[in-house]
Amino acid sequence: MSFSELLAQYDSAEVHLAINSKSAADVERALAKDKLDLDDFQALISPAAEAYLEQMAQRSQRITQQRFGKNQQFYIPLYLSNMCSNVCEYCGFSMGNKIRRVTLDEQAIDAELEAIKQLGFDHILLVTGESERLTGMPYFRKVLPRVKARFNHVSMEVQPLEQAEYEELVSLGVDAVMVYQETYNRRRYAEVHHKGKKCDFDFRLATPERLGEAGIRKIGIGALIGLDEWRNDCFFAAAHLQYLERRYWQSKFSISFPRLRPCEGSFQPKSLMTDKQLVQLICAYRLFNHDVELSLSTRESEHFRNHAIPLGITSMSAFSSTQPGGYADTSSKALEQFEISDDRRPEEVAAAVRKAGYQVVWKDWDRVMG
Ligand code: SF4
Repeated sequence: MSFSELLAQYDSAEVHLAINSKSAADVERALAKDKLDLDDFQALISPAAEAYLEQMAQRSQRITQQRFGKNQQFYIPLYLSNMCSNVCEYCGFSMGNKIRRVTLDEQAIDAELEAIKQLGFDHILLVTGESERLTGMPYFRKVLPRVKARFNHVSMEVQPLEQAEYEELVSLGVDAVMVYQETYNRRRYAEVHHKGKKCDFDFRLATPERLGEAGIRKIGIGALIGLDEWRNDCFFAAAHLQYLERRYWQSKFSISFPRLRPCEGSFQPKSLMTDKQLVQLICAYRLFNHDVELSLSTRESEHFRNHAIPLGITSMSAFSSTQPGGYADTSSKALEQFEISDDRRPEEVAAAVRKAGYQVVWKDWDRVMG
């Protein structure tokens, strides 16, 4: 059964009701278990669990340290292009927005790679808008050898591709691909995606399955928090994770929890998540899945990120620029996808990590075969 078929078995309104009617006893039952199921996960993200945040945080911290040690892996996004042929209401790169469009050529990419290398990173996340014409496979074939020559760990966040294309990306040295469903609510998805290939909900939803079939080392999933009711979307992301792990056990998985940020077009989120609720969610994912990597971006504030370090997070970005060319040329902010919140330099974030008693992992593995 595909995940799309599995998702179709759920009724969104029933899931909403189930989560919101969880009781203190349900939360305590979940907290007493070692292996949690999806029903327990619902209890941990429910309003009833907000009173148990301290217990959840302590357990999450303990499990994370057992599995990952006191480490935080650092990565940095490199925006290669802000061209996009989709219209998504919530994004600054949306085709309808009148911003200057740039796709980095080989020379500009080299300048960015050099600037990033100087900052100390060895784990890079390549990001593009979704333009098959300008940033499709021919472009990736040119870019990846340049990046792979300088960085050990290469992740990508680009438009969903076909399985054979992912197989080629793996052969070009890509270690991980992130593809966020944005929202798992089909109706809401149609409301905020107006034009372009991204309107195909099912093609996007099946992307992690194509990645698993392609044998990629790591798959990143998640929901864009605020597009729909956050508890529902985060529950479905957990169900998606469980489905994928059972099927593609040779791949690793990561979860991100981007909260909607101000951007060009001033989109209003449908549901707001407080900082406390984000902590609750991070801990709930950790208690539900002891091995999944949990990633926190610079969308979150310095204050929040400093406090989140010991709670379950295993990787963080630092000093991110969301505009193509933004590391080599820091003078313009005109092309940004969204405003970042934590703009500290990498060494400042690293100092905060060390102050919390953790070490920064700039490079965590080497490919020795294949
Ligand atoms: S969210 Fe992605 S696909 Fe949508 S407009 Fe932004 S860059 Fe394009």
